[in-house]
Amino acid sequence: MKKRGLILSVILAIAGCLYIGKTDVFAENGATNQRVTINQLTPEYCNVGGKITVNIYHQAQLEKLTSITHGDTYSGNTSLDTVSTKHVYQLEGDNLKNFVGSDGILKLYNTSEMMTLQMVQSAAEYWNTLAGTKIVEIVRTQAESDETIRDSDTNGIMVNGKITYPLGGQTYNGEGILFYPNHWHLDETTLPDAFKNNWKEATLIHEIGHALGIPHLGGGADGANAIRDNVLGTEFMSSWAVGVHGSPLENINGVKSSKIDAAALAMAGLTWEKPKKLASWLFSEEDTCVVYNNGNIASSVPYGVELDFKGNYIQAKQIVDQYLLMGEKNYNVYRVTDDVLENHHFERVSNYTTTKNLNINNKIIHVIGYYPSTKGNPYYRVEVENQEYVINSAVFVDKVRI
Ligand SMILES: [Zn+2]
Repeated sequence: MKKRGLILSVILAIAGCLYIGKTDVFAENGATNQRVTINQLTPEYCNVGGKITVNIYHQAQLEKLTSITHGDTYSGNTSLDTVSTKHVYQLEGDNLKNFVGSDGILKLYNTSEMMTLQMVQSAAEYWNTLAGTKIVEIVRTQAESDETIRDSDTNGIMVNGKITYPLGGQTYNGEGILFYPNHWHLDETTLPDAFKNNWKEATLIHEIGHALGIPHLGGGADGANAIRDNVLGTEFMSSWAVGVHGSPLENINGVKSSKIDAAALAMAGLTWEKPKKLASWLFSEEDTCVVYNNGNIASSVPYGVELDFKGNYIQAKQIVDQYLLMGEKNYNVYRVTDDVLENHHFERVSNYTTTKNLNINNKIIHVIGYYPSTKGNPYYRVEVENQEYVINSAVFVDKVRI
């Protein structure tokens, strides 16, 4: 058997890459340098100078994300350390680009036969689950898409003067996300079908990861230590393989996300044209993961709204309509979007203000919703001067009657 999969994929260094880090310093936000094609309707994007949006996380949280993605010899990416030190998202000094449109959702159109629609939809679900919100959508027409997933009939690709046989690649020259059926030889082996499926899916998840702006996470300044040293691991943003010599036994169970993936995704979301707070469950649930196994996705990512308390979630709401008296103690006040509960997404919300600042202590307040929480007191949704807030029920003298 030929030894395959040591290069799962590469970032194809074609025309677009020549612009990285040079001219975009003088450009407006966005990639004005890249031509738009039907297969890449959204040009590659980064903020000027690779700057991240800084008002989404506190500095301590950025440092936590950095410490996770730093990784070790064969995991993580030390270039990403600059997210907390210089507030830039770069790979060895070059701005990391993404193809997420201005709506904050990567819209992909699939024409690949090697990557079936079902596999592509699973990959979208995988990233959405990891993010705790919708960030990838498979669209029905190319016109709606940011980029297209396609098969290429190429056999062998020159990368840095060397011929390589990757299974897939995110291009930066208008060709979209490419897969190479000619480079896939596992069908001729006795590997179980589930392994073959997982191997392809790992590559698909990997390339979509690049489209979201995530670099390789296999260790070192470029995250490519594992790829360079032919070290196979469990990290799909590096060299993932199953059932072959040197591949981790754990991969038999499928494609499992790591906290490094989640932290890198959280960082990438700070660099999109529409920045987003992603995978913030990571701050209280580090061991959480998503697993793809032969068409099935399992996840331990929590859903609901985490109100600044470690592991305390509200996950459902009951509508009530009562006027209740508040006590005099000062409590945190939150702003919660109920869509998170309805869609089973995740959001970690810090306190917006306090009852004292809102000047509502000792007053009768209109209570419009009731949320049981997974630990401790229920929370109430209240309406104050046409604004809705969520407050711990402990602050109320009276309690909601359901
Ligand atoms: Zn790659």
